[in-house]
Amino acid sequence: MTSRQNTRVIQIGNQKIGGGNPILIQSMTNIPAKKRNESLIQINSLAGSGAELVRLAVLDMEDAQAIQELSEKSPVPLIADIHFDYRLAIESLNRGIAGLRLNPGNIREKDKVKHIVDLAALKKVPIRIGVNAGSLDKTRYPHPTAANMVKSALEHIQILEEIGFYEIKVSLKSSDIRTMIEANRLFSQERDYPLHLGVTEAGTLISSAVRSSIGIGTLLLEGLGDTLRVSVSGDPVKELKIAKEILISLKLRKGVLFIACPTCGRTVVDTEKIALELEEEFGNLDEKLTIAVMGCVVNGPGEAKEADIALIGGEKESLIYLGGSFYKKIPTSKILAEMKEAVSVFLNKREK
Ligand code: SF4
Repeated sequence: MTSRQNTRVIQIGNQKIGGGNPILIQSMTNIPAKKRNESLIQINSLAGSGAELVRLAVLDMEDAQAIQELSEKSPVPLIADIHFDYRLAIESLNRGIAGLRLNPGNIREKDKVKHIVDLAALKKVPIRIGVNAGSLDKTRYPHPTAANMVKSALEHIQILEEIGFYEIKVSLKSSDIRTMIEANRLFSQERDYPLHLGVTEAGTLISSAVRSSIGIGTLLLEGLGDTLRVSVSGDPVKELKIAKEILISLKLRKGVLFIACPTCGRTVVDTEKIALELEEEFGNLDEKLTIAVMGCVVNGPGEAKEADIALIGGEKESLIYLGGSFYKKIPTSKILAEMKEAVSVFLNKREK
């Protein structure tokens, strides 16, 4: 993995973004902000599942007015997503929003843009410029190519820079993974603003997991990306597990990496069931740890050598390895309890 691009640092609420700060996971509510109680329940559940920033669509004044209460009660900084109506941006800023997602070129009159930008600067609220391949201005950019997406982003940026505003984050999203990757690469050669990564309209769970991992993962491996969002059709809580898994798999954040053998004719235990139970038990541990589950004693020990803690399933008795060395033989019926003990032994030893 190449080193991360040294982007400018911006701050959204209490979160620092860019310049080598931890890569943050963003999500978005799918309930109108004006339904305050339901929105708060969803914001809390997103934050509880790993969202570190939450975006809300602000469609009218009632949504914008709800921001005050939502921001005061939200455990994570909130970002208002606004199109076209500058009054919604002003109201959101006055109600305490921590970030704006708004393309200044969509707000035609310059004095209105200046009004927003001056207030955002006063309140230290960054603005994300979000270019989506699907919503490029067709009259000027008939083809949603990576180069055209970057040109469009640079035009929006220029409007802000001319007013002297640089607290900018940029996203270049497309449902076409190659276009999204290329656009972000091209942009990073032009400017050092922090990048928010995402593949739009990525689809339902499996399709999104695959496509987001390729698109976002490729860029992260190249050192690009400061925040990310995995988009999954439906309940946004589902996207957070994928987002966390991408970061943990690339060793860009602490967390438990689970390895499970694919099973074969030699499998003597229900590997999938055990792996799911262990994921449930240890999935939220804030530790850099690899846990492996192998389905037989023939190849298991060899295949699990690299794991911190490995369980080698046997019909009646199973084996636990710690740091690649044999630790103990356990009854297969007591896997969960024995693995809990093994994890705490491993962590205690490592701390010493
Ligand atoms: S660990 Fe054993 S059961 Fe699992 S895939 Fe390898 S040989 Fe098959």
